[in-house]
Amino acid sequence: MRGTRSWRCLGVIGLLALIGALLAGCGGATTGSSSAEDQAAATTAPLQPTATVADSTPVAAVATPSTTGPQVRSPMASTPPATPPLAVGGSIMPAPQGSGRLTAEEVQIYQPNELGVIPVLQYHVFVTDESKLDPFTTTIDRFTAQLQWLYDHNFFLISMESFISNRIAAPPGKHPVVFTFDDASPGQFRLILGKDGALVPDPLSAVGALEAFIAIHPDFGRGGFFAVLPSNCFAMPAEPDQMPYCERKLTWLAERGYEVGNHTLGHQDLFDVTDDVFAEQVGGASRWVREHVAGPGSMGDVIVMPYGNYPDKETHQEQRRMLREGFRFEGQEIRMRAAFMVGAEPSPSPSSLLWDPLFIPRIQTSDEVLDHWFEAFVSGSVILYVSDGHPGTVVLPTPLPSQLGAELDPDLIARQGKTLVNYHPGNQP
Ligand SMILES: [Zn+2]
Repeated sequence: MRGTRSWRCLGVIGLLALIGALLAGCGGATTGSSSAEDQAAATTAPLQPTATVADSTPVAAVATPSTTGPQVRSPMASTPPATPPLAVGGSIMPAPQGSGRLTAEEVQIYQPNELGVIPVLQYHVFVTDESKLDPFTTTIDRFTAQLQWLYDHNFFLISMESFISNRIAAPPGKHPVVFTFDDASPGQFRLILGKDGALVPDPLSAVGALEAFIAIHPDFGRGGFFAVLPSNCFAMPAEPDQMPYCERKLTWLAERGYEVGNHTLGHQDLFDVTDDVFAEQVGGASRWVREHVAGPGSMGDVIVMPYGNYPDKETHQEQRRMLREGFRFEGQEIRMRAAFMVGAEPSPSPSSLLWDPLFIPRIQTSDEVLDHWFEAFVSGSVILYVSDGHPGTVVLPTPLPSQLGAELDPDLIARQGKTLVNYHPGNQP
């Protein structure tokens, strides 16, 4: 079991020696904007193009993520259902064959629940030496063991795009999981010479380990969102000999279903900077991703907030507006489709009233934190998203578990262009 310090912020590798100072100054409850108050302060204008935010989204209902360590997910557990779930609309199974829905038999087998939570795991530094573990690192062996645990417990790795656009196509019965990798440190993706002299991912880097796992378990899904720092680019500062492979790695990732996104140009703490600095750091990184990564894996419009910090709600409302509504930078329109916090719980479903694409929580990946959440997933104290396999429908049990009652808004689901489908668990067709 690792230490008990919360992973409220992340230091750039070169600053690991300054972790103590970073922890003291980079996040937590004082400056992090992951609190309910901060979210309530943000406007609720819908983001293009996903139309996932209701005008009436009660973001204030989102609980304050833990600042001290793992915490039982509180928003659902502490929020009573506003109305009896059965009062909502929607059709009852069975659905006709070939309609893009599960049959009545299938729905009883898979028991979908597409308002459950989705874990977004947050990885930073990868090492192979256990003695170098600290709250910011994972060993490749531990990472592989985590992959195995997720696979064995019916999780399915999905892309960032399918998650934030609410087009989740995990197979029926599976729990979607999203991987995020911050900072582009070299242990995340190292290229080495293979047997035939070609460059291949080092199996002792995260990408190599993940590829090896997927090769053995092709039904695990595929994905991984890399919030890169351009100056690191999977090389610096620890492995400068990897720097010549920067462009090749970015291309390799994008060609294989991975995604590359925004973490600002220079790991800028965005809590208290000028509007110009905000625009340069966010817009500049968006431009860098656009210029260096092609295809659907180029996601400079999805940002992981350095240290989990958002512009101060008291003094930088304009930057909060820029983050949500977009801004011009060097002649380009910059608009973030999603932003991720540092902590500290699974994400609401994109079909939930609690979903706000600009304040998406993530889960740290220290042993202590993962042990906590994995146990909660197994025990059922946290209700996981269970896919029906079809992005166009939101399939829910009736009655809905009480923890999820306050998250259901049939009108929101309809505005998302989805069909709400209810079923009675245990009913024989
Ligand atoms: Zn970072």
